[in-house]
Amino acid sequence: MFLYRDTIPVQTLVMPVQNRTRIVATIGPASASVPILVRMIRGGMNVARLNFSHGTHQDHKRLIRHIRTAAKKAGTEVSILQDLQGPKMRVGNLPEDGVYLKSRQIITFSTAVDEYKEGSHLPVTHKNLHKDVKKGHHIYLDDGLMELEVQSVRGRIIKAKVLVGGVLLSHKGMNLPDSKISIESFTKKDAVDLAFGLEQGVDWVALSFVTGPAIIKKVRRIMQAKSYSLKQPTPKIFAKIERREAVDNFVGILAEVDGILLARGDLGIEMPYEEVPIIQKEFIEICRQAGKPVIVATHMLQSMTVHARATRAEVSDVANAVIDHADAVMLSAETATGKYPYLTVHTMATVIEEAEQSRFDDITFYQLHGLDDVETAIAQALHVMCENDHIVGIVTAMSYGSVAHMVNTFRPNVPIHMACPKKEIARQALVRAGIHPFVLGDDPGTFVMRAERYLRKNKMIPAKKKIAYLTSSPGGEIQLTIR
Ligand code: PEP
Repeated sequence: MFLYRDTIPVQTLVMPVQNRTRIVATIGPASASVPILVRMIRGGMNVARLNFSHGTHQDHKRLIRHIRTAAKKAGTEVSILQDLQGPKMRVGNLPEDGVYLKSRQIITFSTAVDEYKEGSHLPVTHKNLHKDVKKGHHIYLDDGLMELEVQSVRGRIIKAKVLVGGVLLSHKGMNLPDSKISIESFTKKDAVDLAFGLEQGVDWVALSFVTGPAIIKKVRRIMQAKSYSLKQPTPKIFAKIERREAVDNFVGILAEVDGILLARGDLGIEMPYEEVPIIQKEFIEICRQAGKPVIVATHMLQSMTVHARATRAEVSDVANAVIDHADAVMLSAETATGKYPYLTVHTMATVIEEAEQSRFDDITFYQLHGLDDVETAIAQALHVMCENDHIVGIVTAMSYGSVAHMVNTFRPNVPIHMACPKKEIARQALVRAGIHPFVLGDDPGTFVMRAERYLRKNKMIPAKKKIAYLTSSPGGEIQLTIR
């Protein structure tokens, strides 16, 4: 049984964290209980990720119920992200203590076996592996910890030399960076899991091992049809960038998808890991300019799975993702199975806060380019007003489309309160840096009057301070009210 040992600094229990950069935390056995989830939410978690590589539907159903209950207790909303497994290749069942792969040893995999027998072939989940690998291709196992080189392929037997050894346990992941993989990136399991997720009302769906835009279109059509029959808004889609093909096809993928998840774990095996930090910077910048949210994921505070304090390099990694202008930073094993789920979220929130208060995450003048349309010019003007403390908040609506999103591209240092028609839509907006979504009904009055009434009543904007209200009409009329 997991023993909860988190310490809880008192101030974070009474004051929900209000950073601009969002925190995505993966929920698992270590964070499944309502009291722990309440602490994590108050500590700064905005998005709860459910990893469908693990657990049954019953487990996930319970987690979703707990997350919604905890959000209510914490007095806020949390977005739920369903992360589909995709065509993740794994080794099959092995003995409990695993199999020791010794450097320079020759081992064999077989796509014809499901069970491992002492001294025999290793089973794999990808039953066409023998068609996809060739002599000289590299095979990485267990998050890249072990490396092999294919020596020969005969029938369904793949012979490989161990270059970097280790103990291989059951179901560990397998990456083939040199090979073209013949598996659809949306598997039968994904289709079943997706239908379940939609019935549970998840807010976002992440597609794993995306290689191009076609699969996003296909999955979106499935989601739209099912959501229509469930009479609920269609969730938004994140494409996980974890293959070289996704990097090569990034522009096409971004045009089709609602957000990007930089899955640095697999990406750093599928291509040389020294390229990943630069890809991170490039892609975050492209996403910010396109007005689409981007999450930086994996190993951000990895050592906190077992230690109460992060390494200095991890702290720098989180701070640098904020400085790069990521919308969100993600925790995986740290909160799913780690010893300190709450403390990890709290640590991440304090690092974000410090980085956001520095000058290094500010959008500098040379980044304020692209003044070729009115929306951009208004967004820039608002940015300058915030910098000079003329306004302490911006209020706009999701339905105002490009003008609303353009404002956030310049990352103003005040909250952007975004009116949404339904709570499901508001939850989708929670993954965006700096956006504070709220549900605004259609009582009588202008948008400015209704929004101001709601925000003042709920003490979401300070009294006696100036706020900018930005509205636009389908005809293209844009109105900026400052009061
Ligand atoms: C990753 O590879 O970085 C990642 C987030 O993917 P997953 O944890 O789903 O394997």
